[in-house]
Amino acid sequence: MNNAVELSKERETLDVVSFFDFQICDSTYEDILEYLLNSIEDKEKNIVFAFNPRKMVMAKNDAVTKEALQKADILIPDGYGIVLASRILGKPINNRITGTDLMMLLCRTISKDSSEGIYIYGATPDSLKDAVERMRKEDIHIAGGIDGYGYDDEEVVNSINRSGASILFVALGSPKQELFIAENADKLHNIRLIMGVGGSVDVISGHAKRAPLFIRKMGLEWLFRMICRPSRIKENKLLADYIKIVINERRRLKKAG
Ligand code: UDP
Repeated sequence: MNNAVELSKERETLDVVSFFDFQICDSTYEDILEYLLNSIEDKEKNIVFAFNPRKMVMAKNDAVTKEALQKADILIPDGYGIVLASRILGKPINNRITGTDLMMLLCRTISKDSSEGIYIYGATPDSLKDAVERMRKEDIHIAGGIDGYGYDDEEVVNSINRSGASILFVALGSPKQELFIAENADKLHNIRLIMGVGGSVDVISGHAKRAPLFIRKMGLEWLFRMICRPSRIKENKLLADYIKIVINERRRLKKAG
């Protein structure tokens, strides 16, 4: 893999590709899973964030969000727009990893092979309750959960610490979840894996529909979401800004030869 660089010693099993000011993971689901499971066993704390065009623009517009995103040990290329732009810019990312798929893979594998507990923070009370019910039906070890409305950080941190969980999924949307994690990761004493999962709890609970598989395979999930949720008109503007950033970068690279 030409454009991938090896990560530092403790992360030598994962590849990354430089993408603007970010290091995007370019490993397979299996390699990421193995890496994270080993880290959990070795009692290392890892932060995983999903990266997409919207977050790229948010980071460009807001230094605090950018700093929070850069706290990730692993930034997964969740948005197809990232994969596509990486090709246009001549540094292809080959492995698209979606947050929801990685979350479920982690939950199933961890619950099958170990007794580690999982805590979920975020989503509405109803969606969280339904997601937890569905996950418990699959024998996933849910140690606790708290919805994303109406609790302050201190209450949430105390609840997570009391639960004894070692894996935390935060589903508050972006940049809220990245800011919470960046601010509070060090206060979570038993947690060894923290992942920002956006709307994944709503997908698991069935409260939000995922795009049909063929649409996902074509990389058009973002279009599906936009059509299903026209209220998120702001996303159109972010997407337009993202396209501009990529086109400008392509021009700059061409000029530089
Ligand atoms: N959410 C929350 N608290 C808030 C705002 C949002 O728990 O104050 C939840 C919301 O209920 C939803 C998730 O965060 O489950 C955000 O999903 P969305 O698809 O908007 O996230 P994205 O992945 O697009 O950032």
